[in-house]
Amino acid sequence: MNVSELWQLYDHEFCACRVADVLAEGFVEVGVMRATVTARFAGQCINCGESAVTGWLTMGTVDPDTETFRRVNPNSIHRPIGDAR
Ligand SMILES: [Zn+2]
Repeated sequence: MNVSELWQLYDHEFCACRVADVLAEGFVEVGVMRATVTARFAGQCINCGESAVTGWLTMGTVDPDTETFRRVNPNSIHRPIGDAR
């Protein structure tokens, strides 16, 4: 992930915005659940200026047959799987 990437989050607890525009600053934790790669990252919402850490977000999936990593589209809107709190 590029550190300057912008992630749009909805149904999140990152900040007060309905849809947060989070400028990612770096990974905090990375996890693998079965074939799904997830991560939490620190960032700042460019709408309200809140700095926080995201809930778990799906980064992509690994195809079990080919072991190829398929990344999610970072330009879509993402919903955290579960929040960190
Ligand atoms: Zn915000």
